[in-house]
Amino acid sequence: MQNRKATYQLYPSSSQVLKLQDQLHTHQQLWNAALEERIDAWQKNKLSISYEDQCKSLTIIRKDNELKDQWASLNCSSQQITLYRLKKAFSSFFKRLKRGETPGFPRFKSQRRMTSLGFKSHGDGWKFKPNLKNNGKPDDFGNIGWGRHGTLYLQGVGHMAVRGQARAAGIIKSCEVLHQNNKWFVSFTLECADIDVQRQRKRDDYIAADWGVTDLMTFATASHALTTPSLNDVVFTTTENPRWYKTTEDQSIALAQKVSRRKKFSKRWKKAQDEKSRFEAKRARKRHDHQHKLSAAIAATCIRFSTEKLDIKSMTAVKKDTHKENTFHREVLDTAPGALFQKIAYKVSETGGQYVTAPTKELKPSQTCICGQQKKKARSERWHRCGACGFEAGRDETAALIVLYWSFGILPPLKKETKNKNGQEPGESPNRRKTILSDSVLKPRNHQPSSSEFGGV
Ligand SMILES: [Zn+2]
Repeated sequence: MQNRKATYQLYPSSSQVLKLQDQLHTHQQLWNAALEERIDAWQKNKLSISYEDQCKSLTIIRKDNELKDQWASLNCSSQQITLYRLKKAFSSFFKRLKRGETPGFPRFKSQRRMTSLGFKSHGDGWKFKPNLKNNGKPDDFGNIGWGRHGTLYLQGVGHMAVRGQARAAGIIKSCEVLHQNNKWFVSFTLECADIDVQRQRKRDDYIAADWGVTDLMTFATASHALTTPSLNDVVFTTTENPRWYKTTEDQSIALAQKVSRRKKFSKRWKKAQDEKSRFEAKRARKRHDHQHKLSAAIAATCIRFSTEKLDIKSMTAVKKDTHKENTFHREVLDTAPGALFQKIAYKVSETGGQYVTAPTKELKPSQTCICGQQKKKARSERWHRCGACGFEAGRDETAALIVLYWSFGILPPLKKETKNKNGQEPGESPNRRKTILSDSVLKPRNHQPSSSEFGGV
């Protein structure tokens, strides 16, 4: 059994929209009250209040004569989920504190920030009826498949049409109602049988990929298992980086300026804010869609996918002491590598394939040659040229090749870059070193950032 999410769009009537907004409002009040209670108890009596304590208080509030109308009409488990989310916000706050990161205390929520309601088990205040395939007639294997769309019943709101389609039918476990950009969605957690989420595989290639910003990914593909390093058996391909951010930068800056010029919380400010978030949501959907198509195409062809483990956090850290505006972290975040590799990983596993990550710190794919010699490269260095064995190739191609060889266990032992006291490499004369240094200092620098500066990592 595997868990899967399926998201549908909700179509409430105008009176149902008011009821949904009312529910969100009550949940917002609950969140803020619960947060205040925790803060108060600690400040006045050094007491920490647990999730269980707050659930007990919730039961009392729901019985209170004055508050009953507003609170008791809503689903109780759903309110408990809001309290549980607060508990999670606090435990992550303490975790960050322990690790010495910026702690970020849980915040009071405005109506704008309260965008979702959680619901527990199916049948507890909500029920989803998907339309069935072939009018509910079982297929040749006795399965009843889900068709498109369906109906959702929600306590206090009524029946609503939902549109969408789950890739696989399953046991409905829990759901979440979301309000984003003036649209309503419902997202179900489904427990699916392994056989229902399986994907077809067309080829059994071995693929190693190097992620980057110049090209989104560079692949080294072998159609059969390799026992010795052999370049003739490897095919190199790349996939273009769509650069969602870069291609729409002007528009997004204009929209941000529109928001900042208007008076905060005014009607015109809200209008501009809505326009901006609609634009950003559309860009995010495009990225998401592209990633799904790309990962599905990869999963359909490979029996094993290997890549280096990425440390996204350190890659996207913004150096505060650099004066020049550094947009590299934006370029990295724009490719959303974490989300991309997550999609590849689960899709590869759905075909019965293997997803392998190489240890980046030891292997250093972008700094290693196929002979095992390691040498540090600057980010702008796009060509790999080995001083030890003479092998030459593109930087990303070499990195993908190194991961591919590593995945077969046929990479020669790694030779670490050795430096003598002056930071010089063996065989390099001090004079030569000096000229390289002075060259880079004396040459006038090109202030227009070239695309190569956003080179692969
Ligand atoms: Zn070499």
